[in-house]
Formats: sequence, C-alpha cells, structure tokens
Amino acid sequence: MTYHLTLTHLYPDHLNLYGDSGNLIVLKRRCQWMGIDCTVRSLTMGEVIQPGETDLYFMGGGQDTDQVAVVDDFHALKAAAIATDTEAGVVFLGVCGGYQLMGHTFLMGNGQETPGLGIINVHTRAPGSALQQRCIGNLVATLEPAIYAEMVRLYSTPKTIPPTLVGFENHSGQTLLGPGVQPLAKPIAGFGNNASGDYEGARYRNVFGSYMHGSLLPKNPHFADYLLGLALRRKYNDPTLRLPGLNDLEELAAHHYAVDRYGGQGSHQISHRS
Ligand code: GLN
Repeated sequence: MTYHLTLTHLYPDHLNLYGDSGNLIVLKRRCQWMGIDCTVRSLTMGEVIQPGETDLYFMGGGQDTDQVAVVDDFHALKAAAIATDTEAGVVFLGVCGGYQLMGHTFLMGNGQETPGLGIINVHTRAPGSALQQRCIGNLVATLEPAIYAEMVRLYSTPKTIPPTLVGFENHSGQTLLGPGVQPLAKPIAGFGNNASGDYEGARYRNVFGSYMHGSLLPKNPHFADYLLGLALRRKYNDPTLRLPGLNDLEELAAHHYAVDRYGGQGSHQISHRS
C-alpha cells in the first residue's frame, strides 16, 4: 500500500522568518525517501480550508507586524478547520509566531494584544520592545523523556537518535504553559519558552509549538519523522505503524555540531539582560 499525506503550509508568504519554509522541504523530501506520497498545499490570506483536508499543518514565525497582518484571516478562514482537525489528532507544528498564535494571546511589546486560537493552553507576552528584552541565540534542548521514547519506538529497525533538539531563537514573546499542556523539551543552552529557561516548546494532543528556527527540521530529522509518523498513524488508524530508518549522516552531523558547540554553554545563557 502506498501511504499519502497532505501537508498544509499556513501563510508561507507572511510567516517564514529564518527560512521556516525549509521545514516543509524536509517533510516532503523525507516522505519521498520513505516512499510516501506527499502533497504540500500552501494556504495564505483569503484562502479557506475545510476540516479533514489536512494531515499535518505547519505555521512559521514572523515579525509582530506579520502576525498582526494574518491574525484576522487566521480566525475568520482557518480557525474552525484547525480546531476540528487538531481535536481529531491532526498534527500541527507552529514555530515561534505560529506557536504563539495557537495559544490564547500574544501581548506584544507595544501593548497591542494579538488574539490566538486558544487551541493550546499557553499565554504569551513580551516584557517590552527593547532589544535587551528579547530571547536571542542558539538553542539546545533535551526532549521530554516520554516524547523521546515514542521517537525511538517509531522505527521498524532500531535507530540511534539524539535525545536533543537544536535551533536558533529570536523572540520578544515569553510563553507560559497552562494546565493540560506538556513541554516539548528542556533547554540546555538558550531560553526556549521564556527567559526562565525552564522549558522549550509545548505539546497538546498532536499540536507542537517550538521557538526553534533554523529551520528546525533539517538538523532534527528525528523530530521530522516523529511528526510524519504521528500523521500516518492517525490517518490510517494504525498505532503500530513504523517508519524505515533513513541514513541521516549529514543531518545528524549538523545536529551534533550544534550540541557540541552550544550545548556546553550551560543553561539559559542570557544573551541580553532581560
Ligand atoms: N514576533 C514574535 C516575537 O517577537 C515572534 C517572533 C518569531 O516568530 N521569531 O515574539
């Protein structure tokens, strides 16, 4: 049987900070390498989506002004389908701004509030608009053990995968997790969700948020496979579905370089006084 996945890329023209669109390239290419048919659909301003059309959503990051530009359209034309789909277990990956807008609110440094969809129980606020109040730099984090254990079990043959995620962050928004939301990872270096450096990212059902740009997935192929595996298991109603282990020599060389270079800095290196 040939599996098929439909990936919906939300606002590729507005929310693509630091090449976040590279995440779609990775997902599509890994599907091709694994013999999975994959359709990538862009969904921008003015375009409507219905529930049941998507197996995996991606929404990247942007400047505050980019988020303000899309927020009304996001609520009016995409919210209902995304809410229905994600409650049904459809996979969603939001990076930075895309993460923030899946939460309840993003209170920006200028005092303006950008309402999120409230699908994931997080709140985000910026302490101000000064550069010194931003979370900027390389981010290395250890995956939550339960998530990592699921990743390890995903493959049809044993595959060694790193227990870490690596990326780059640049955000004013500081995100606090509410009840019912798991963190994605724990920072070793960098900030993650907020200046406390306690947690990076979030998970609710199969909705994932992360502050990692880079883009995120090229250096974290195990996370890319995990998202694809979750999408396939849901679509084909097969919780035992396994993926073949691709040869990720180059991807993991980049991953380990980042861990070795930045992971030893100690936790939450404050690149600017908050
Ligand atoms: N504009 C948001 C912030 O500064 C998101 C930034 C981003 O997507 N990198 O927090």
